[in-house]
Amino acid sequence: MSSAVAMEATRRRQRLSSNGGASEMTEEPAGQWGRAWEVDWFSLSAVILLLCTAPFLVFFFVMVCDQYQCSVSQPLVELYRGEATLRSIWDKAPSFTWAAAQIYTVWVSFQVVLYMCVPDITHKFLPGYAGGVQDGARTPAGLINKYEINGLQSWLITHALWYANAQYFHWFSPTIIFDNWIPLLWCTNILGYAVSTFAFVKAYLFPTNAEDCKFTGNVFYNYMMGIEFNPRIGKWFDFKLFFNGRPGIVAWTLINLSYAAKQQELYGYVTNSMILVNVLQAIYVLDFFWNEAWYLKTIDICHDHFGWYLGWGDCVWLPFLYTLQGLYLVYNPVQLSTAHAAAVLLLGLVGYYVFRSTNHQKDLFRRTEGKCSIWGKKPTFIECAYRSGDGGLHHSKLMTSGFWGVARHLNYMGDLMGSLAYCAACGFGHIHPYFYIVYMTILLVHRCVRDEHRCSSKYGKDWKRYTDAVPYRLLPGIF
Ligand code: NDP
Repeated sequence: MSSAVAMEATRRRQRLSSNGGASEMTEEPAGQWGRAWEVDWFSLSAVILLLCTAPFLVFFFVMVCDQYQCSVSQPLVELYRGEATLRSIWDKAPSFTWAAAQIYTVWVSFQVVLYMCVPDITHKFLPGYAGGVQDGARTPAGLINKYEINGLQSWLITHALWYANAQYFHWFSPTIIFDNWIPLLWCTNILGYAVSTFAFVKAYLFPTNAEDCKFTGNVFYNYMMGIEFNPRIGKWFDFKLFFNGRPGIVAWTLINLSYAAKQQELYGYVTNSMILVNVLQAIYVLDFFWNEAWYLKTIDICHDHFGWYLGWGDCVWLPFLYTLQGLYLVYNPVQLSTAHAAAVLLLGLVGYYVFRSTNHQKDLFRRTEGKCSIWGKKPTFIECAYRSGDGGLHHSKLMTSGFWGVARHLNYMGDLMGSLAYCAACGFGHIHPYFYIVYMTILLVHRCVRDEHRCSSKYGKDWKRYTDAVPYRLLPGIF
């Protein structure tokens, strides 16, 4: 399917569609508020740079722990002095093993089975939890996809089995993930590239929904940022929901547990820093699964297309770089003073509170269409209108109350505070664990800018009214 064909399909739908309900037909041209159709040179350069460097960056951060006790500067100094070569560093790194391939195959297959074959029952007995079949947000072409939300259940089953193995069955060592870490890196790369390439080819040959495909005319950009919006196999295997949530995020807490088990094995104790990292990140992961239905309304699902950025990122970047703190603490078992540990815990919990409350306020506001209470008052908002690709006119509201009246993205600020807490739990011996806060700052500032660009295209002058009412993005008075 070429871009011309995809656009013609959209135009045809505009002429033929007769949407009822919330959407009205209009004669005006469709709004294009989804991802860009054309690529500027800056975006293209960034895409090519990332494609070329990101896999090496992940290797570097894992390798420096394996060979240099997590010192980021030492390999660079050795290279500079001629004491090491790229070849000698590469030769010392563990290579691909069939044992790791088996572990990874079992892991991914198990997650596929949990995702596809075990419909959610947890929502039937967990009050307040929204699982089972849920609606996604309206896509730029005007569709609303259905999703089977069973991530919390998958997480619970996986962790119950992990616990049962560690305590009773002893089929494998709880350090299994750490012990195979670099061989697993090669396996995750194979899956990451395979999935991204499959999604790329699928978009041309058999897209799930041609009207939501975006072809920019640049092969690198298409490969990296994706063409299909919501690629699926069959009715339910949704690539975005599966690869982001599982195997990546379910694995996150298991990886941390494996690191804690390794500390215990190596030193005979687990440090308070390792416990803090495990606890704070487990809160974040559990929050994600508890709110998986909410996740359907976030930018990953509502805006990003599925390409290398999400496919490879979810398979490789997320499990390896989001868990750097635990890895660091295996090699550097930092025991924090009580004051330091308490400060980290407080920062992490306050960050989590801001992150969760901000996201919750928007979710509540949107679900009830503004008929709710925010900070004890009826919320204020700006009425706005937008058009979908099928020409339908829709209405929405942008809240100007609560955290959303303080700044336009306080949820990102909360996330950054939590991220800083994970890093600070590792003490100040090396910069290695601090890569995460640097990365998250770049990710969320960039996300903030591109989200606002998208919202501005979607809502036009209504977005301008909102930014006039709430002038700051992340930090009131500063940015
Ligand atoms: P948001 O949840 O902030 O969603 C932005 C969207 O919300 C906008 O596109 C717009 O969508 C809507 N919106 C914006 N302003 C308002 C308002 N005032 N009132 C009502 N709706 C509004 O962004 P994300 O999806 O990026 O992030 C969700 C969470 O996930 C964040 O907390 C973020 O920190 C976290 N995150 C974490 C990552 C990680 O790697 N750890 C990566 C990415 C995100 P619409 O078109 O519907 O109007």
